Amino acid sequence: MKRAPDHVIHTMGWPLPKDAFGGSWIYPMADDLISLGLVVGLDYRQHSLDAHVLLQKLKEHPLVASLLEGGELLEWGAKTIPEGGYYSLPDRLYGNGLLIVGDAAGFVDVPSLKGVHYAVQSGIFAARTIFEALKNDDTSLSGLSGYDAAVRDSFVGKDLYKTRNMRLAFKSGLYGGGVKAAIMSATKGALLGGRIDVPADADEPREVTAPAEFTPDGERTVGKLDAVFRSGNATRDDIPSHLIVSEDVPPDVADLYAHMCPAGVYERDGNRLVVNAPNCIDCKATDVLGPRWTPREGGSGPAYKRM
Ligand SMILES: Cc1cc2nc3c(=O)[nH]c(=O)nc-3n(C[C@H](O)[C@H](O)[C@H](O)COP(=O)(O)OP(=O)(O)OC[C@H]3O[C@@H](n4cnc5c(N)ncnc54)[C@H](O)[C@@H]3O)c2cc1C
Ligand code: SF4
Repeated sequence: MKRAPDHVIHTMGWPLPKDAFGGSWIYPMADDLISLGLVVGLDYRQHSLDAHVLLQKLKEHPLVASLLEGGELLEWGAKTIPEGGYYSLPDRLYGNGLLIVGDAAGFVDVPSLKGVHYAVQSGIFAARTIFEALKNDDTSLSGLSGYDAAVRDSFVGKDLYKTRNMRLAFKSGLYGGGVKAAIMSATKGALLGGRIDVPADADEPREVTAPAEFTPDGERTVGKLDAVFRSGNATRDDIPSHLIVSEDVPPDVADLYAHMCPAGVYERDGNRLVVNAPNCIDCKATDVLGPRWTPREGGSGPAYKRM
């Protein structure tokens, strides 16, 4: 039997390390257009794991490289998916004059990482609740409380309950998690139903590791700054920083932020953390693992056309 050359042998989960949760996608968008991407759980262990670099590595896989041959990078972007599932939902989905819908509430189907249908349905419930509240002239906490039960009693709440441990099961690794997830799917969540207790992503212990070697070729693979340019980032260079960063960030944590951010916002300069806030493309990974993200002036950030 003919053996494939070593560089095309990849284990399941590649290019992610074994202890990281995630996967990749290739969607045909038109005859001459594909969408290529990589998902990485923010509870990864290696402090130098860099999702942007891993995506570039993926492009070097012979299968992917053959699809990209002669092509051009039209757009690039990044976004955090709230994939904590049922146990990450807010206790209350309403407040005085406010309702939480879609991704903001964490309505994402964990096994498929899809949330458009939940965003639409929760939006419908929110619109109905607001309409009634306005008619009753009561947009207070109690006037809006019906929204909570509407969502939780619908397929949104029921689906999320069935898959409540799906993501948490992968804390025991890809293969162990896969087996547990299969049992949960087959029994619609009846088996392995007890809550799997896990730390918040920001509390996950990290291991200090050497960064992967990577030099972009500027064509198929790109560095972070070229990538940000492809997001159509429209933030002015002198905008006040919208990132709330501790004064005293230890060097290893500065490295963690630098690798975590796909847009090159954070850099370690000696023992100092440098923050290039205008580069931010609002993916919000920061809000999970590090400095707080806050909204900026209108018109800032990426100007996605296809994403
Ligand atoms: C890479 C990727 C692939 C996905 N693939 C699928 C898929 O195939 N199928 C599927 O069903 N789901 C998919 N999802 C999930 C899906 O995109 C989300 O669940 C869904 O878009 C959530 O809708 P939303 O309206 O709640 O939030 P969003 O679509 O995120 O919309 C929120 C909007 O609010 C704007 N905004 C944020 N802050 C402010 C502010 N301060 N002021 C004004 N505007 C603001 C944002 O710019 C954004 O336009 C994917 C997600 C990602 C990241
Ligand atoms: S600073 Fe934070 S929100 Fe902005 S691009 Fe980097 S990781 Fe994403």
